[in-house]
Amino acid sequence: MGGLKKPLRILFLSSEVAPFAKTGGLADVAGSLPDAVKRQGAEVSIALPFYRVTREGAFSAQPLFSGLRVPLGGATLGGHVLQAHTKEGVPVYLFEREDLFDRPNLYATSEGDYYDNLERFVYFTRAALLFLKHMGSPVDVIHCHDWQTGLVPAYLKTVYRDDPLLGSTATLFTIHNIGYQGLFPQEKLAVCGLPPRVLHMEGLEYWGQISLLKAGIVYADALTTVSPSYAREIQTPEFGLGMEGILQKRVKDLHGILNGADYDLWSPDKDPDIPYPYDEHRLEEKARNKAALLDEVGLKESVRDRPLFGMISRLSAQKGCDLLVQVMEDIIGLGAGLVILGSGEEKYQTLLEKAARRDPGNLSLRIGFDESLAHRIMAGADVLLLPSRYEPCGLTQMYALKYGTVPLVRATGGLDDTIVPFDPETKQGNGFKFGPYKADALMGAVKQAIRHYQDPATWQGLMRNGMAEDFSWDRSAQRYLDLYQSILSA
Ligand code: ADP
Repeated sequence: MGGLKKPLRILFLSSEVAPFAKTGGLADVAGSLPDAVKRQGAEVSIALPFYRVTREGAFSAQPLFSGLRVPLGGATLGGHVLQAHTKEGVPVYLFEREDLFDRPNLYATSEGDYYDNLERFVYFTRAALLFLKHMGSPVDVIHCHDWQTGLVPAYLKTVYRDDPLLGSTATLFTIHNIGYQGLFPQEKLAVCGLPPRVLHMEGLEYWGQISLLKAGIVYADALTTVSPSYAREIQTPEFGLGMEGILQKRVKDLHGILNGADYDLWSPDKDPDIPYPYDEHRLEEKARNKAALLDEVGLKESVRDRPLFGMISRLSAQKGCDLLVQVMEDIIGLGAGLVILGSGEEKYQTLLEKAARRDPGNLSLRIGFDESLAHRIMAGADVLLLPSRYEPCGLTQMYALKYGTVPLVRATGGLDDTIVPFDPETKQGNGFKFGPYKADALMGAVKQAIRHYQDPATWQGLMRNGMAEDFSWDRSAQRYLDLYQSILSA
């Protein structure tokens, strides 16, 4: 930022931030975007809950404040704030309350969501606002992410409207996935501490319930989602999942900004999790990673000379798991290998496990969340499968490109924005794409990939096209900065 202009002060509020706590792409974004925004000259901080996994992680977090008094329903709860830092020195405020956050998982067990998720995230967001007041250091914009932080814009427009410190704070609300709407019974509005007048169709009310996602959509000064295509899609009934009407009303304030990839964490030439570092000039090292991966996941050695398809994903309907289950055996029938790393819904785990048992030499299934193995699959696979039903942005296809692992995606959301189908005539393009959410459409793209894989010169060209792509965060961070400025001057 030039001249004497004061740097913008931005607080990121997110329920997960890598590496402190992660279940998916939200954590990657909330872990990397603040550093990128700081590099553009802003003054940035981050707030997230202090979960058990954060406590058990190797982070140095110092106690900072013990005097929180957070209203929750009729009660007032205490709590602590600890401070850690990102790799670029952005302060990270961790909100500790054992009874709410010291649990095995972030949001749910395999039986379902924690019963008190509303209380947990009301506590977190109110605690964050009260902490700002306590510190006496206002910020210009609070950048909220997903339903867990959706109440913050509502608090600022109601409870803290005339507050000397918070009253002039602006909010940006980013929708990472409209499928997670933070729905709770209306009777629980009192837990939020919001006035009853917010309970109407243009407020928090959503078909007889309250929606924290809707609170963010309605009350934030501006909205973003994580790709231009998804910004358009969520205004339609097919993708808006009931929120399309309220989004159409805010269309002037809704922006699609593509997520970025953090190449400090996802580059094959400096990835500590892979055995053989490589880049576009050392593609033979990728083959060594493939051989090591086959060994690690128990696939036949003969897959070395055949295409290896990989998938790293939450196991949910969104990610196209039902399609995957339908085509797994056909992919292997075409002579390919398949390695899947996933965690999530039990229904899909069971279906995948059943299929995997039939041909363990060609199909390997790892159930669980394993960050390190994710990197080795990224390096060792030839093709990364993303047959998503819908995909707000998708990060793994961007990582795959950098690893010379060719993405095969369904044309939806951010996958459609980032993947250009390979054209054998011009040799342009960076992946394979299919349209209809149907097994034969997916298999059509699989067959194309296998055909081009047979021609090493073509395949290496395709790998290099992907490796030359640049989806780094800096461009998107600049767009966020412009948006923060424009909200403040509105
Ligand atoms: P989403 O946020 O919808 O899950 P994204 O593509 O935006 O999808 O981000 C997914 C992130 O989570 C990526 O960093 C990916 O590597 C990681 N990931 C997903 N599933 C697993 C898993 N089972 N083990 C390790 N990492 C995973």
